[in-house]
Amino acid sequence: MARIVMKFGGTSVANLERIRHVASLVAEEAKGGNEVAVVVSAMSGETNRLVALVDELDADTPEQGHRLGGAIEDEYDSIVASGEQVTSGLLAIALRRRGLKARSWLGWQIPLKTDMAHSKARIAEIESSAIGPSLSEGNIAVVAGFQGVNDTGRISTLGRGGSDTSAVALAVALKADRCDIYTDVDGIYTTDPRIAKDARRLNRIAFEEMLELASLGAKVLQTRSVELAMNNNLPIRVLTSMSEAGDHNPGTLVCHEDETMEERVVSGVAYSRDEAQITLLRLKDKPGMVAKVCKAMADANVSVDMIVQGISRSDNAANLTFTVGKRDLDNALAALEKAQGEIGFEALKSDSDVTKVSVVGIGMRSHTGVAQTMFEALADKGINVEVIATSEIKISVLIDAEYTELAVRALHNAFELHEAPPLKVSAP
Ligand code: ASP
Ligand code: MG
Repeated sequence: MARIVMKFGGTSVANLERIRHVASLVAEEAKGGNEVAVVVSAMSGETNRLVALVDELDADTPEQGHRLGGAIEDEYDSIVASGEQVTSGLLAIALRRRGLKARSWLGWQIPLKTDMAHSKARIAEIESSAIGPSLSEGNIAVVAGFQGVNDTGRISTLGRGGSDTSAVALAVALKADRCDIYTDVDGIYTTDPRIAKDARRLNRIAFEEMLELASLGAKVLQTRSVELAMNNNLPIRVLTSMSEAGDHNPGTLVCHEDETMEERVVSGVAYSRDEAQITLLRLKDKPGMVAKVCKAMADANVSVDMIVQGISRSDNAANLTFTVGKRDLDNALAALEKAQGEIGFEALKSDSDVTKVSVVGIGMRSHTGVAQTMFEALADKGINVEVIATSEIKISVLIDAEYTELAVRALHNAFELHEAPPLKVSAP
């Protein structure tokens, strides 16, 4: 007997037919005498629909023609959290109709306590004293993902994609033996299979690699959920909910690097179109200038990602290029224009037709030549690199968005990711 957390995303609970199917997968696990807690997302498209309602109303202006403003995040949370309330109740009914004992749990009922940051709350604590015994008595817990409750008793949500984090946190709190994240793909791939037809499903991937891939644009898992799994050394399996109960469905195990089995330098290629590039021309080349730029961005609540500076020694001026999220571009430009006098640059340029393409692999720590292979592969295709950023286990480049597919395919080929690498000599 094991204690299992199963999480189902929006496409897995998109309609009653899919919910009945999910009930069959849950029943299969419960049948073996396992204790099962299920975490569900809202039906696919539902959260977007709710967000759009909030945005539309928020844009209303009173008759005088100016907005009175005022924060609405608390109400935003109570509205968008409703999608998960519906699916948790529906799945509980589907399970009861199969003769199983099940009930829905909302965030405040568990309670899953969060901090006060509405719309992007972090989990502070999960109380297991009610849900734990309920599981032990043979009840299936169907938990509404994405939502929690804060210290003032208001509903909070964990940021888009947050039900992955609900599932991992619940698995940690319940000391679960397994945390299975069911989705509409059958695992983590070496790159997006829609771009590279020969992309390969990975049997295992290290937490750190998954963390980089998730934050660099691979959308399968919310970044924070991977972080949480890594910090608690809780392996998570990513697998498809489209298979039938009882099918062999290996998925991808996201685990500690010692448990990965393949010997490889690069594990995957990720891309993100959610980038915009800003260049400040002829910035004074003296200490503190970059700090001023970063402060202007931080004050505008914009996070800066890649940064490069080119200096011309002859006239003591520098050009500074950096990237921000596409959504933040207008904000960032407004803040920079406002601070132009203080920062002291001559002109400002921006481009949102850019993509960040990255190669990721823990093997980079101990192998050289990855950068060379990467830049040669891009050069061979005539792709110009605008900005470069590296960490111990990744290299990212910013390129013209037009070349996204070409670059992803070229890199996937260059690192031979379509081929299964040899197994580690000391594979567990
Ligand atoms: N329903 C929420 C969203 O669409 C949370 C989730 O699906 O993980 O972002
Ligand atoms: Mg998701």
